[in-house]
Amino acid sequence: MAEVLVYVDHVDGAVRKPTLELLTLARRIGEPVAVALGNGAADTAAALAEHGATRVLTADAPEFADYLVVPKVDALQAAHEAVSPVAVLVPSSAEGKEIAARLAVRIGSGIITDAVDLEAGDEGPVATQSAFAASFTTKSRVSKGTPVITVKPNSAAVEAAPASGAVEALSVSFSAGATGTKVVSRTPRESTGRPELTEAAIVVSGGRGVNGAENFAIIEKLADSLGAAVGASRAAVDAGWYPHSNQVGQTGKSVSPQLYIANGISGAIQHRAGMQTSKTIVAVNKDAEAPIFDLVDYGVVGDLFEVVPQLTSEIETR
Ligand code: FAD
Repeated sequence: MAEVLVYVDHVDGAVRKPTLELLTLARRIGEPVAVALGNGAADTAAALAEHGATRVLTADAPEFADYLVVPKVDALQAAHEAVSPVAVLVPSSAEGKEIAARLAVRIGSGIITDAVDLEAGDEGPVATQSAFAASFTTKSRVSKGTPVITVKPNSAAVEAAPASGAVEALSVSFSAGATGTKVVSRTPRESTGRPELTEAAIVVSGGRGVNGAENFAIIEKLADSLGAAVGASRAAVDAGWYPHSNQVGQTGKSVSPQLYIANGISGAIQHRAGMQTSKTIVAVNKDAEAPIFDLVDYGVVGDLFEVVPQLTSEIETR
C-alpha cells in the first residue's frame, strides 16, 4: 500500500494533538510513516503506533535543537528519498508551514497550505481549503511531484488505530545551509494553564464589548469552566486589554475549534477570517443586528456582563 509521510510535532517525546489528527487523515490515503526528529524522538513511537503509524523514522542530533528549520527539512528530504510517499503531511503551524514550503522547493513539488480536510482521489490526494475569510471552500490537488500538504489543527477527530509503529533510524546528512542561523536563546511563555489557542477544542473570545482589561476575567472564567483557550478581537488587543498572541483573525491567529464563543464581538470580516471554520459558533451580543449573528449556530442577544457569568455558573454546576 502507498505510504504517507507525517511530520511529527512533539515536545521532548510528547506528541502534540495536531500530529495525531494528521495520522487520522493520512490513513485515508495510505499507510502513515511518521518522521520524529530531535530530543525524545524515539519516545514518540508508542503514541504514534497507537494512532496508525506503521513505521516511525527517527533522528536526533544537536542540529535539530540548535538551528532553525533547515536541519528538519534535510531530515524530511532524506525520509522522502527513503520512502517515496504519495504525500507529505505537516501540521499548519508557523514552523510547519516553513518546513513544508522549503521541502516542496527541494523536492520540486507543489504545496497546499492550511487544508481543513483531506481525501483520496484518482489522481492523488485532494485537500479542502477555506478561502476569502471562509466565504468559499475549495478542493485542490497538487499536479507536480509529491504533494506537500499542511493541515490546520482541529481538522479531524483523533482516532486510535493500532499499528506496528516499528522504529527505524533515519540517516540525515545536513546541507551546507543547515547551520546558517543559530538559536541563541529560548524564552518559554509563562503558562496560563490553558490550551494553546490554535489547537484548543474550545475557544472563548472577547471583543470591544468586554470594555476593559479587567473585565476579561469573566471571559477567562468561562474559558476555564470549559477547559478552553481565550481569544480576543483586534479591537480588544489594540486597546491593550489582551495580548496580541491571543488575537483571532486576519492579522492574528486562525482557529478552527469544535466550539467558538464570541462575546461582545461584532463579526467584522477580518475577525471572521480567523474563526469562521469553527465547527459550532456561539455569540453573545447586545445588538441583535450585529453581523456575527449571520454566521452563528446559536446566538444570545443580551448583555455579556449578565449572560457570561450565568453561563459560567451553569457550566460549573454540571
Ligand atoms: P466592534 O466592532 O466595536 O464590536 C463590538 C461589539 O460588542 C458590538 O457588536 C456591540 O454590539 C457588542 N457589545 C458592546 N457591549 C456589549 C455588551 N455589554 N454585551 C454584549 N455585546 C456588547 N479584527 C480582528 O478581530 N482580528 C484581526 O485579525 C483583524 N485584522 C484586521 C486587519 C485589517 C487590515 C483591518 C483593516 C482590520 C482588522 N481587524 C481585525 C479589525 C476589524 O475590522 C474590526 O475592527 C474588529 O474585529 C472589531 O472588533 P470587535 O468586534 O471587538 O469590536
